[in-house]
Amino acid sequence: MLQPLLQQANFLALTLANPLFMAAEQGVIADHTQVEIWDSGVLVFTPLTAEPTSDIVLSSGIHGNETAPIELCNQLIRAILQQHLLLRQRVMFIFGNPMAMINGTRFVTENLNRLFNGEHANPNVLTNGERARAAKLESYMQQFFTATGRKRFHYDLHTAIRGSRHERFAVCPYRPGKPHLKQQIAFLSAAGIEAFLMHHEPTTTFSYASSANYQAEAFTVELGKVMPFGQNDLTRLAALRAMLMALLAETATPTPDFAADKQVLYRVCRSITKNFADFAFTFDKDLPNFTQFAQGEVLAHENGQAIVAEQEGEAIVFPNAQIPIGQRAALCVVADPGIPLA
Ligand SMILES: [Zn+2]
Repeated sequence: MLQPLLQQANFLALTLANPLFMAAEQGVIADHTQVEIWDSGVLVFTPLTAEPTSDIVLSSGIHGNETAPIELCNQLIRAILQQHLLLRQRVMFIFGNPMAMINGTRFVTENLNRLFNGEHANPNVLTNGERARAAKLESYMQQFFTATGRKRFHYDLHTAIRGSRHERFAVCPYRPGKPHLKQQIAFLSAAGIEAFLMHHEPTTTFSYASSANYQAEAFTVELGKVMPFGQNDLTRLAALRAMLMALLAETATPTPDFAADKQVLYRVCRSITKNFADFAFTFDKDLPNFTQFAQGEVLAHENGQAIVAEQEGEAIVFPNAQIPIGQRAALCVVADPGIPLA
């Protein structure tokens, strides 16, 4: 696949044509950049002219129908292959779930972004395409993050099922004993991210696994609403593209100034778990993310019981009742400008 990749510079098309397997191959672009295909949807570039100081993972398509970041990453890959973007840092691009991308669905059998940090190997669950893919992606992360002394970044790029009061926002994985970094918030804020959710517990998401296992600065980044391939307005992601290009092409990590009033910080106060099959939210399915509720307002019902907002201004993010019993049906967050940052 290396020859068609170098000729056509369209890794997305190659991935969709070969969703289950691509043989490992490597080559060099004009003596300055090594290119390695690791698998279907997994591509690594290493600059050869100078020692990189950062190892960067840009993943998209972990949910197959979240096409805007897939198209953005394919543009960045094309720019590298066609030598419009000269890399100074090492980067791995991942299109997470090629079979779901072909289907135009969030997943085929199971939500891939609940299977990381070892959950894919849960012996109580039969394996499936997503579990096998999660295991492979974890092994690629392990192979990629081997150098010591380099900075590690992982931006896992998504779009949301529903609208949002903040068009673009980031989920910051739980990091016990480590404050969130102003520098990363300033970087993402300059990339157009308006709000940040600080998670309160370990999860099985891709970004949590990178943060916990490789100490990467890792984020789940939500970039607007789900649209089919070809229907995204990528100009809405121009600021993100510019910051990612700077991160990849500059010798020093970009460090925009931090301004406390440029973004809203939220603390995750709890997650609501679906415990019974009749779990249902009280609100409309189009309710935007970050909609706030009054204390005591009923959010959902299950098994004859009401689930209510526990505090004034509690806001709901990622509500989804169409999930298996035992999984997270929503996150509850509260705005908290006092979250400590370092
Ligand atoms: Zn997603």
